[in-house]
Amino acid sequence: MTIDGPSGAGKSTVARAVAEQLGFTYIDTGAMYRGIGWLARERAIPFREGPALEALLRDARLVFEEHEDGTRLMVNGEDVTERIRTAEMGMVASDISAIPSVRRWLSALQRSLGEAGNTVLEGRDMGTVVFPDADVKVFLTASLDARGERRAAELCARGEAVALEHIIQDLAQRDRNDSNRDIAPLRKAEDAMEIDTSALTVAEVVERVMEAVQRRGNSG
Ligand code: C5P
Repeated sequence: MTIDGPSGAGKSTVARAVAEQLGFTYIDTGAMYRGIGWLARERAIPFREGPALEALLRDARLVFEEHEDGTRLMVNGEDVTERIRTAEMGMVASDISAIPSVRRWLSALQRSLGEAGNTVLEGRDMGTVVFPDADVKVFLTASLDARGERRAAELCARGEAVALEHIIQDLAQRDRNDSNRDIAPLRKAEDAMEIDTSALTVAEVVERVMEAVQRRGNSG
């Protein structure tokens, strides 16, 4: 199953809950872009095609590890789970995600993680590019205000107080980057079910997604 949409539409929360109900593995592909962005920044590698980026991708190792307290993302053996969650790293991920070799590398890794089946892959291009034949495709949207408020609450819970106005600007900027890039832009797959989550609770969204899964199961 794939769940795509812009930042703050509720993808992660919904994808996690649906994966848990189905007993599927949840794969957060945004974390993978953040992980590569983190590594490139650590090594002070410019965000453009070239030998330095090639070398980075040659020896980059991204691994999701299951721990008692949840899934951890390891990048070349280093636990980056918390470090990649800042607003700044969101922008870094958005910038690096427009580079073709990075998308090729991560798409291949995502395919290898998802091809075993029983996965919920969450991102921007899961239903359009990486898994165009997925059984169930969901596209979540929400108003910019609703998304900003959710992101503000999330960052606040992590101790990062950012003004709502800045968060909304940041989301709008990332929407522009993600929707206007040449390769794998953010868009709904034609056969995806679209849900506007602005006025819905998490439980209501999860219920609608589960209904789609059931419909799909029943139709064979
Ligand atoms: O979902 P998250 O906010 O963690 O994603 C960070 C950034 O990574 C997005 O703004 C987007 O630019 C990029 N991304 C992508 N393709 C994906 C997942 C994330 O381009 N499948």
